[in-house]
Amino acid sequence: MKRSELFLKLQKGMEQYKSKVKLNDNFDEKDKSVQYIMSRYNLENFNDLINSSYEELDDEVDEKELKDLENRIDEYFTLYSPDDEEFREFIKKISVYITFIAKKPLHPPGIKFSNGIMLYKKGDTYYCTGKSLFIKKKHSLCKYCIAQMNNIM
Ligand code: SF4
Repeated sequence: MKRSELFLKLQKGMEQYKSKVKLNDNFDEKDKSVQYIMSRYNLENFNDLINSSYEELDDEVDEKELKDLENRIDEYFTLYSPDDEEFREFIKKISVYITFIAKKPLHPPGIKFSNGIMLYKKGDTYYCTGKSLFIKKKHSLCKYCIAQMNNIM
């Protein structure tokens, strides 16, 4: 499948969420919690996905990788939030968009996890100080994240 086809499929799939996602960007800049930062990043990517055009992307998506990423999200939700099917499908689409279309990291630059792990950008490259640790976890999406491993700031 071409990336442009995947993009159109994702965009169509997101139609159902337009009435449900809060589209305003009235965020509290003081809130630095991971949950809040992730909500803001998801909204930013949702807005990009529904308002952008990627029709010129004619390179192929690695469908094995795409399926594996989706399976990892499915397995994670099956374990930790089995009843939240609608949110799972939303997160799946956002993650596929970030990974295969926008080619951005799966966590937003500037995010800091409780153990000091963080993601940052230097030049055009993203670095994650937690990738080497998180990539070993079952269902981890780090394998498909474009952030580079970096254990030393
Ligand atoms: S490498 Fe993993 S922990 Fe780091 S930003 Fe990407 S998905 Fe998040």
